[in-house]
Amino acid sequence: MNRNLMLNALGVENNVIELADQIESQIDSRFKEIDDIAAYNQLKVLNAMQKNRISDLHFGWHTGYGYDDPGRDAVEKVYSDIFGTEDAIVRPIIVNGTHALSLCLTGTLRPGDEMLSISGKPYDTLEQVIGISGDSDQSLKVYGITYKDVDLNPDGSFNEKAILDSIHEKTKMIYIQRSAGYSWRPAIKIEDIENIIKSVKNKKSDLIVMVDNCYGEFLDYKEPTNVGADIMAGSLIKNPGGGLVLTGGYIVGSHELVEKVAARLTSPGIGKECGLTFGQTRSMLQGLFMAPTVVAGAIKGAIFTSKLYQSLGYEVCPEPDAYRSDIIQAVKLGSADKVIRFCEGIQAAAPVDSFVTPTPWAMPGYTSEVIMAAGAFVQGSSIELSADAPIREPYIVYFQGGLTYEHSKFGALKSLSALLDAQLIDADKINTAQ
Ligand SMILES: *Cc1c(COP(=O)(O)O)cnc(C)c1O
Repeated sequence: MNRNLMLNALGVENNVIELADQIESQIDSRFKEIDDIAAYNQLKVLNAMQKNRISDLHFGWHTGYGYDDPGRDAVEKVYSDIFGTEDAIVRPIIVNGTHALSLCLTGTLRPGDEMLSISGKPYDTLEQVIGISGDSDQSLKVYGITYKDVDLNPDGSFNEKAILDSIHEKTKMIYIQRSAGYSWRPAIKIEDIENIIKSVKNKKSDLIVMVDNCYGEFLDYKEPTNVGADIMAGSLIKNPGGGLVLTGGYIVGSHELVEKVAARLTSPGIGKECGLTFGQTRSMLQGLFMAPTVVAGAIKGAIFTSKLYQSLGYEVCPEPDAYRSDIIQAVKLGSADKVIRFCEGIQAAAPVDSFVTPTPWAMPGYTSEVIMAAGAFVQGSSIELSADAPIREPYIVYFQGGLTYEHSKFGALKSLSALLDAQLIDADKINTAQ
């Protein structure tokens, strides 16, 4: 009862609360699976920390060159152990996920090599890195590295035949984006990644398989590097930062490849030996320690949102019962008004900047206007509750994050309340939803 009064005070009416309770009772069994994965990953992280004898001395930091920084080395060893790789680079001087991915590409590919992306076109921000779009004179293309891609099948599976047919002598890298990103398809399953890696390596054994693991960490018992990926990267203001890390990126992989990337990150001959951590190692380790639970809360929030909007007749991706390999939930709302109201509701649910009204704007690099709702402790952190949408047909909103399940769920309830307040959803629909 107290909870309901508090929800009322925060702008959620009783009919929405009743629907939420009903929805929640229908997804219990899914939550059990999520909890099992989180429990396993919690122990995996703990094991890596104990094995590397993490102690207070790892929370300090150096100045200047940063030689022999025990905290930095410990963080990187812990990441290697968790992701099952020989080596890792985990640093606040990697400015974002794009930078981490870009370092992997420029560090491992050479003029004359070809990169083959087998999950369709990579994430938007990589287009300029590769030279698919833009006119940067530092793109891979300018350096004589060619690019090809093979789209996924409509059901999200790999088009194995087309992939194998596209591999030829120059093909050096197979590139996989695990998350669906901003496309209407499920994220790629670990099992599918495992099978395709076997198959491409069977065709050409010296291929480098790289995975963009953004939004995918701790979604399953295994990570892509446990099933054959040679190098993988992600952002610390998404899943593995657990909401506590202020900035940074990670790269994990074989020793040989990570060395090459490190020479690109700093310079040849210096590699991983230099680079400050600016006092971030404590929150990197603590955030990693929290991450399995935080990610579980975000997935539960995504499943709740999926079920909630599906019950009201909207198309959702992934569906509530589907396997999850990233934390993103897409909802096809069908009109610009609805997308805008949905995002306003998410913003109004935030702990920070809840009083701000998000509006669509022409973001650099995007073809249509984009609206973004985020009221985060760390700017741009999308493991925190956030939603965004390009203002174009078919008007899909992308919902993700929430540092706790309760908050993620509250975001969904506020989005629905905003749609109701604007009379874009009929109140009768709430009462008859199932
Ligand atoms: C977030 C993300 C990136 C990198 O984005 P940054 O904003 O540069 O951190 C790359 N790929 C995917 C799938 C992502 O979700």
